[in-house]
Amino acid sequence: MTWLGWESLGGTLTSGPGVSSWSRGRLDTFVRGTDSALWHKWFDNGWSGWESLGGVLTSEPAAVSWASGRIDVFVRGTDSALWHKWFDNGWSGWESLGGVLTSAPAAASWNNGRLDVFVRGTDAALWHKWFDNGWSGWERLGGVLTSAPTAVSWASGRIDVFATGSDSALWHKWFDNGWSGWESLGGFLTSAPTAASWRSGRLDVFATGGDSALWHKWFDNGWSGWESLGGTLTTAPAAVSWDDNRIDVFAGGTDSAMWHRWWDLVPTVRLHAKILTAPNVPVATAVQRMRDVYANAGIAVTLASTENLNLPALDDVDVGECRLGQTTAEQNQLFGNRNNAGANDVVVYFVRSTNPPFNGCAAHPAGRPGAVVAQGATQWTLGHEVGHVLGLRHVDDNDRLMTGNGTANITNPPPDLIASERQTMLASPFSQDV
Ligand SMILES: [Zn+2]
Repeated sequence: MTWLGWESLGGTLTSGPGVSSWSRGRLDTFVRGTDSALWHKWFDNGWSGWESLGGVLTSEPAAVSWASGRIDVFVRGTDSALWHKWFDNGWSGWESLGGVLTSAPAAASWNNGRLDVFVRGTDAALWHKWFDNGWSGWERLGGVLTSAPTAVSWASGRIDVFATGSDSALWHKWFDNGWSGWESLGGFLTSAPTAASWRSGRLDVFATGGDSALWHKWFDNGWSGWESLGGTLTTAPAAVSWDDNRIDVFAGGTDSAMWHRWWDLVPTVRLHAKILTAPNVPVATAVQRMRDVYANAGIAVTLASTENLNLPALDDVDVGECRLGQTTAEQNQLFGNRNNAGANDVVVYFVRSTNPPFNGCAAHPAGRPGAVVAQGATQWTLGHEVGHVLGLRHVDDNDRLMTGNGTANITNPPPDLIASERQTMLASPFSQDV
């Protein structure tokens, strides 16, 4: 898990950057340039040049992806009202949304067809406006804020908003079937915070600290402390999730150019699918369900290869008592098929059935990490069996992936991993830094 170095993107910027992920592999960045107009730069197999979007702007831009192929950008205009510009097969003109605003806007996509915008108003409190088949009026959320708010969508039906409060600490307010009160997250901040959702159950917040360096705090079943990422920054950072296991952070540097830093190379389970009989839950679905769970351990899952195996004699494979270290002759034969797989890659054999009948079995010969999954397995079986391969044992709790009562009985999708399980998985040689 490594932060990569700062990279200059050039340009002559007079505001902090505002960034928005738009679609897989594409990243859009907005700033004000020397003429106070809005400028746009995007990454699409390489960075493209700055494009002026016009407008006379008096605040930094805030941008949000809303739906496939659509970008919404918000700024304050010369009348201190909120202005809105959007891309939908071409850029549309600025539209005034009204309001008397005293901060730059922060916007968050929440759901299909719904867009939420947050600003500080003339009373230094947080105000909220939303689009839901038309713009709804400003709603006061209260709080005594000393920075522009930052908002992030986190999960379906949930919005998280961050701001610095009157004590220069970070404050957090969230919507989860109703707005909850401000909660102080501590820290001594010298910039407005920036937040990026990364993956289900994980939230990353960035700010500059007292030393002008970039600081990072994250939520992963509880808030973790600030971590300095270094760099000498002259603007508040802006962060965006781009892709699974990737975060991009932008800031103005000492030369007023835009700087870019990114994080990838996270621990990864590399899977290889060997298919004797196609499972009822498609392999792609089972891999995605596994990602949903393993994300809570900070572990990515890649399906590195898929191969059909014509081995009818092993399609109802004898797994004996399914005990690690006690594999049968048929298991030894089956697990010998490791085409394309590196020593620490996990090979999963999709068979018609096991004998005796189980959803799956993770017992494997030494040096051949892998598992079998039966045709009638559930959507969680793959993640469960690979959990065993990574060293996890059964528990008596149907809220958790490793329930020993059958993954068909899991009651809270995606099922949980507890802290000690995450540590075990991260310590396994089969969650590799790739
Ligand atoms: Zn099990």
